[in-house]
Amino acid sequence: MGKNKELTIQQQLQSLNQSAKQIKDLQELFSLVEDHQLGNMCFSTSLGQEDQVLTDFIFKNNLPIDVFTLDTGRLFQESYDVLSSTQKKYQKTIQTFFPNDKEVEELVAKQGINGFYETVQNRKDCCTVRKINPLKRALQPYDIWVTGLRSEQSVNRSGFQIFTYDTQFEIIKFNPLLQWSYEEVLDYIESHNVPQNSLHKQGYISIGCAPCTRAITADEDPRAGRWWWETSHKECGLHKTNN
Ligand code: SF4
Repeated sequence: MGKNKELTIQQQLQSLNQSAKQIKDLQELFSLVEDHQLGNMCFSTSLGQEDQVLTDFIFKNNLPIDVFTLDTGRLFQESYDVLSSTQKKYQKTIQTFFPNDKEVEELVAKQGINGFYETVQNRKDCCTVRKINPLKRALQPYDIWVTGLRSEQSVNRSGFQIFTYDTQFEIIKFNPLLQWSYEEVLDYIESHNVPQNSLHKQGYISIGCAPCTRAITADEDPRAGRWWWETSHKECGLHKTNN
C-alpha cells in the first residue's frame, strides 16, 4: 500500500477511535463500522473466551462477517471439541486454515518436532509457519480484521486502540472487546450460554497450542501460561505491540 493511502486510513481510524472511545456496546460498535463502509470484514477466532463472545454475537446477529480459525496441528483436543460444538450450536461455518505442508516438513526436519522449546528463534519460526503464514493467507481477501483482543490481557496490549492499521498484514484491525473486563466476558458467556473450552475451568485462561500453554495461578498475568519457559513478550507475532 502507498504511503498516502495508509495516511488517509490512519486519519480515518483516528476519528473512528474518537467516536468509539466511550462505546462498549457491541451493536453500537459494529454499526459504527458499517456506517463508515470500510470494506469487507473477517473475524479470526482462536476459540478463546473473548473470541467465543464475538462468535456468538456475529452468528446470532447474522453479521456479514466471515469467521475463520487457524489449526496449527498442535492444538488441544479440547479446542477441537469447542470448535465442533460451536459450529453445531450456531449451524454456521468456521473456516479452518492449516499451515503449508511443505513448510511444516522443512521446519520439523530442521528443528525437530519440539524444537520450539530450544531457542526463541525456533519458537518464532514455528509460530511463523504454523500461525502467521496461514493467517496472512486467510486475511488476504479482507479489508477489516475483527479480533477479540482486550487491553487488560497483558501489559503489551494495554496500549492498543479499538481501530488500528496493522502494517504487518496491511489490514484495518477492529478490536471491539478492547475495553471489556474479564468479568464482563464471563458474564456474557454465562448469560448467553456460549460454548467454551473445558480447559478454562482447569486454570487455563489464554489457550494456544498444547505444548506451549499451561494453566496459571490466580496471581499470574493471563498470558503467563503461554511460552512460560521464555522471558519474552508472550506474543506469537499475530498481534504486534505497535498496532
Ligand atoms: S505456539 Fe508453540 S506449537 Fe504453536 S505454532 Fe507457536 S511455537 Fe509452534
